[in-house]
Amino acid sequence: MNDSITSPNTERKHCIGILTSGGDAPGMNAAVRAVTRAAIYNGFDVKAIYRGYKGLLSGEIVPFKTQNVSNIIQQGGTILKTARCKEFETAEGRKTAYETLQREGIDALVVIGGDGTLTGARIFASEFNFPIVGLPGTIDNDLYGTDTTIGYDTALNTIMQAVDKIRDTATSHERLFFIEVMGRDAGFLALNGAIASGAEAAIIPEIATEVDQLEELIKNGFRKSKNSSIVLVAESPMTGGAMHMAERVKNEYPQYDVRVSILGHLQRGGSPTAHDRILASRMGAAAIDALLEGQRNVMIGIRNEQIVYVPFSKAIKNDKPIDRELLNTLRTLSI
Ligand code: ATP
Repeated sequence: MNDSITSPNTERKHCIGILTSGGDAPGMNAAVRAVTRAAIYNGFDVKAIYRGYKGLLSGEIVPFKTQNVSNIIQQGGTILKTARCKEFETAEGRKTAYETLQREGIDALVVIGGDGTLTGARIFASEFNFPIVGLPGTIDNDLYGTDTTIGYDTALNTIMQAVDKIRDTATSHERLFFIEVMGRDAGFLALNGAIASGAEAAIIPEIATEVDQLEELIKNGFRKSKNSSIVLVAESPMTGGAMHMAERVKNEYPQYDVRVSILGHLQRGGSPTAHDRILASRMGAAAIDALLEGQRNVMIGIRNEQIVYVPFSKAIKNDKPIDRELLNTLRTLSI
């Protein structure tokens, strides 16, 4: 069963289930809209699963028509809600999920989420030989095989706007500011956020084991001719976060007037940028194309503006490398 999912014109219509899972990201709604509409356009039924894998276990499932996704492309968050679900990490939990799918007559799934969501999808798909296509929905941009993920561009713009505001006070008081941004395992937000906002430096997990980034900054005289400085720090055990950096400066370089700002959850919210809406729309439609082509266990990615299919095994297993040229650009421009 479920070996291929093709455009239905015989027997009952095939049905596609859709869910959002893990951390919410701006553009998830645009993706839900695109998947729903592209599926219906191609003759499928659609069922929305609420609260990610949790809803798959508890059966929180609602048939979706085109009007269920009207007026959501501009909304942040996810109308399907999202949740973490520990039970789905157990074989028993996944069996319950499979039983729900059978009961609901769902023939394939499109899941939207980050690394954990796709890991769960991969395990489930192989255990039950069930067709799943994933969309990369995470502000962290930490999935391999895609240039960017849904939500990343919006979060980056939010960070840039926040840093612009903090800069006003940093300049007025001639302070050194450490601004903490999200990115547990990945410094994309910190590094590109620093470049976009004209910050002096970014402290990121990717190079945390190579160099003492704070020491390097101080050694290179990062304040140079300036009276105020802004450094973006990725929130990660690898960097220790902005508080840790500030403590170090207070102890090791007490001459600096140092402050910390943690941007936190405001980075996840807000209306998606045009870039994220278009990306989510293209990827959502591509998920249905992929299922029609008989693809399964792939994440939809984008490389050089072209849609690509990335096997789950590649998307989640590999660390996405940071572009070292960006680091050099930041260093060059912060003199
Ligand atoms: P973000 O990148 O925004 O944190 P995410 O998708 O990585 O999003 P997680 O909380 O890591 O978010 O994962 C979401 C859900 O995926 C988990 O609550 C769990 O239900 C499922 N999941 C994660 N890892 C596994 C796993 N190893 N096996 C089965 N399911 C998993």
